[in-house]
Amino acid sequence: MKKATAILFSCFFCIIDLFGQSAQPYSFPSFSGYHTLLCDFHIHTVFSDGLVWPTIRVDEALREGLDAIAITDHLEYTPHDRDIPAVDFNRSYEIAAEYGTKKGLIVIHGSEITREMPPGHLNALFLSNSNMLKKEDPVEAIREARKQGAWIFWNHPMWTAQKPDGMAELTSLHKQLLKENLIDGIEVVNDNNFSDESFEIALKNNLAILANSDIHGLVDWSFPAPQTGHRPITLVFAREKSSDAIREALENHRTVIWHAHILVGTQEFLEPLIKASLVVESAVYQPKTSVVSITLVNKSSQDLYVENTGKFTLHNTGPFFIIKAGEKYVLEIKTISKRDQFELALKIVNAYIAPGKNIQVSYLISPEK
Ligand SMILES: [Zn+2]
Ligand SMILES: [Zn+2]
Repeated sequence: MKKATAILFSCFFCIIDLFGQSAQPYSFPSFSGYHTLLCDFHIHTVFSDGLVWPTIRVDEALREGLDAIAITDHLEYTPHDRDIPAVDFNRSYEIAAEYGTKKGLIVIHGSEITREMPPGHLNALFLSNSNMLKKEDPVEAIREARKQGAWIFWNHPMWTAQKPDGMAELTSLHKQLLKENLIDGIEVVNDNNFSDESFEIALKNNLAILANSDIHGLVDWSFPAPQTGHRPITLVFAREKSSDAIREALENHRTVIWHAHILVGTQEFLEPLIKASLVVESAVYQPKTSVVSITLVNKSSQDLYVENTGKFTLHNTGPFFIIKAGEKYVLEIKTISKRDQFELALKIVNAYIAPGKNIQVSYLISPEK
């Protein structure tokens, strides 16, 4: 008996050791034939002003269940160059990619073009040679990235070091870059900052919506609960788990972002993600009543904050309730008479399709009688 208990205890500690204390692999369900991939497209290492070696970025990402990361060290800011000479701007990517490939993580070759505002900072992804982007004129650097076939996005337009009021705003140079099709996406979330104004710019200018960590220190120390609890993540809906498929998905703006406790995206992709995440498992009339018990399951890593917006009132809660990540919730709804079918209409209070506008989802319920 004693021995069995000891084995049980040691196994328990093995598991804790294996996964690390706060490591928690996140996941969101796939839908419509797309694979939902968890990605972070803005990451620094000691090769610019980050504080860790590139391989640590791979291990951090795997602990959190990420599918892909982009290493995007600064091209114009290398404060560790006394110890790590800034001679080859491809190196941090190469080191991370060699290690990541062995471990099943997709590592994307990026660089951060780091300039005064305007244009501020832009990340170029899927590069072939970062060194070629070392140009005096920022627009020339952006053009060179494009020549290499890069996918380019505007970083942290809400960063108060470059925009003291924190209000993301297109300058005439950004408008010019948009006109020349040199910007494909925008960070609505960078580090701990969320920007409704960036979201608005994305929607108005047809840009892909991104949430990235811009991590410099360790991920575990930088995004503690309850404020955030996980790094900002861009969910990418890709046809397969590959770098090319991620690129194709980004080109077609198939993203939803996950920051702190909220999900943000266009109706086109947020709706199927919510429908795949929040699933009706069963619906059955309680005996001799017209009250239906509906079992809902949350298959995502985010708690969903839900408001009933349908015509029937609820029996076991008021109009607002929370369905915890990975858990079930039984909702009792009063349909007045026994029905073959009715609509369950829900507003997801922590999921947005436009600034200040929540997504609404509905389910056709056919309860067992
Ligand atoms: Zn930056
Ligand atoms: Zn950065």
